[in-house]
Amino acid sequence: MPKKLNGTVIVTYRCNARCTMCNRYKEPSRPEDEISLETIRKLPEMYFTNITGGEPFIREDLKDIVRELYKKSERIVISTNGFFTDRIIDLCREFPQIGIRISIEGLEETNNTIRGLEDGYNRGYTTLKKLREMGMTDVGFGMTVQDCNAQDLVPLYKLSDEMGMEFATASLHNSFYFVESKNIIHDRPMVAGHFEDLVNELLKSNSPKKWFRAYFNHGLINYIYSQKRLLPCDMSFDTFFIDPFGDVMPCNGTKNKEVMGNLNAQTWEELWNSPQAEAVRKKVRCCDRNCWMIGSVSPAMHKYIWNPGWWVVRHKFLNFFKEKKYSMYENRIVRDYRDGKVSKEELDRRSTCELDENGRTQA
Ligand code: SF4
Repeated sequence: MPKKLNGTVIVTYRCNARCTMCNRYKEPSRPEDEISLETIRKLPEMYFTNITGGEPFIREDLKDIVRELYKKSERIVISTNGFFTDRIIDLCREFPQIGIRISIEGLEETNNTIRGLEDGYNRGYTTLKKLREMGMTDVGFGMTVQDCNAQDLVPLYKLSDEMGMEFATASLHNSFYFVESKNIIHDRPMVAGHFEDLVNELLKSNSPKKWFRAYFNHGLINYIYSQKRLLPCDMSFDTFFIDPFGDVMPCNGTKNKEVMGNLNAQTWEELWNSPQAEAVRKKVRCCDRNCWMIGSVSPAMHKYIWNPGWWVVRHKFLNFFKEKKYSMYENRIVRDYRDGKVSKEELDRRSTCELDENGRTQA
């Protein structure tokens, strides 16, 4: 039996938000070009599927897409900004087992400024509360951390915890997918300090899932200091993305779009076993972008479980009696930066941010 894969389906590039760190809304897809049910039927068996955008709920046939995907996927999670409350509730009535992750970028004022969505925080928060009231269990927040919202990281985690919800984090990234190349964290120690607090909160909990989330956030500190990924990246081997045009890609982190084949024109077997797909896999093997996004890290954490597992044992159990179980200064690069052995400019150069002609960040 063929191995089940981890897939992300980008159903549209249209978006109603105007996030400061993502320009995708400036290059939307046209509704008539967007992935059809016919193409979705050609996807392989998956153990996990993420549906994302743009804003997926802009597509009025999203329920039909989900219905098709459930025929081939054990678990589905939709990433959304939570704005279209009625559409989300309506879909969840039919699929109460589905996961919903709503992007909230901070407490009210910060969120609305970053996302450029009037009343976005209240809309997102109301949607989350209504989903909870309906008895939905797989519901949570997602936050992309940057200089201007890092102070809201722990308060937002606590809010999600009180509501009994998942809390997913990311840092700023640059790629073709975000139509952005100038995102960068400026004050790394300040942002890392908030991540350190979050890691310690997660380690305090009694939930093994949260201990592994702590490891993921430790990896984000490593990422914002422009270091090599903590785990290998196996995107395109057992994980894929498909975009609204039917192009199958290894991930959403590359600088330029990398295409393994097109599912509108090919069968899955043709595409997945093609020389073009092999050429992309070769590129992935020497990719130096070092992304740390849940889409590429979660499969790696499962595959190389002993690595996060040992980290959890060390921090949760061997540090059992310590009030503070984790320090960001465990990371050598954080100490080196503090001690002046490495400069901000050097870390900026190692990042994926495109610098100006003077080698400076452009924000
Ligand atoms: S590190 Fe992995 S997820 Fe990031 S761009 Fe490279 S192949 Fe894609």
